[in-house]
Amino acid sequence: MAGKKILIVEDEISIAELERDYLELSGFSVDMEADGDSGLKTALEKDYDLIILDIMLPGTDGFEICRRVREQKDTPILMVTAKKEDIDKIRGLGLGADDYITKPFSPSELVARVKAHMSRYERLTGSEKNHNDIIEIRGLKIDKTARRVWVDGTEKQFTTKEFDLLTFLAEHPNHVFTKEELFREIWDMDSIGDIATVTVHIKKIREKIEYNTAKPQYIETIWGVGYRFKV
Ligand code: CA
Repeated sequence: MAGKKILIVEDEISIAELERDYLELSGFSVDMEADGDSGLKTALEKDYDLIILDIMLPGTDGFEICRRVREQKDTPILMVTAKKEDIDKIRGLGLGADDYITKPFSPSELVARVKAHMSRYERLTGSEKNHNDIIEIRGLKIDKTARRVWVDGTEKQFTTKEFDLLTFLAEHPNHVFTKEELFREIWDMDSIGDIATVTVHIKKIREKIEYNTAKPQYIETIWGVGYRFKV
């Protein structure tokens, strides 16, 4: 994991420096921002392999930064909080944070969590060199090369576009896509159809992969925006 880049957004400088020192000792390269507005700007402008995000920050708070980053990127986000109420909020809001850690924590615990999330993200996105053509998320398994899909061990049949759409979403976990973006991505520019086609295909995919299509565990509808593959 040497050379992986991490952004720390933390206003308590002593904590930020402690986190940085331990992460650098593990071979990561670390940037720090000490307030919410700079943190958000840097997180959106630069590419990181993981973001460590404090919640109580001067300026934009960690919740808002998480939400805004998640609209554009699927970078793993580890939220840091000192308050129990925040944990419920992280879980409840569906912000797309990957994990949280409560203060005070030991630096070695932080490093372990960071490494775990980076490994998981690499497995999901296949961004490492030992690039894997199998995507496995809970009971769902997608073989990209063979173009086959299993749900809890049972193979399901997908049309070409359904397969492409499912795979595209699964390869970009926690990223919210609009119907327009998905249509452009999966269908040819001159193909017949419109964004309603996306809705129809999502419905068909859900019927095949979800236990309960009313409460999807994989493809989540973000009302007024689009869809997100939940991990
Ligand atoms: Ca703080």
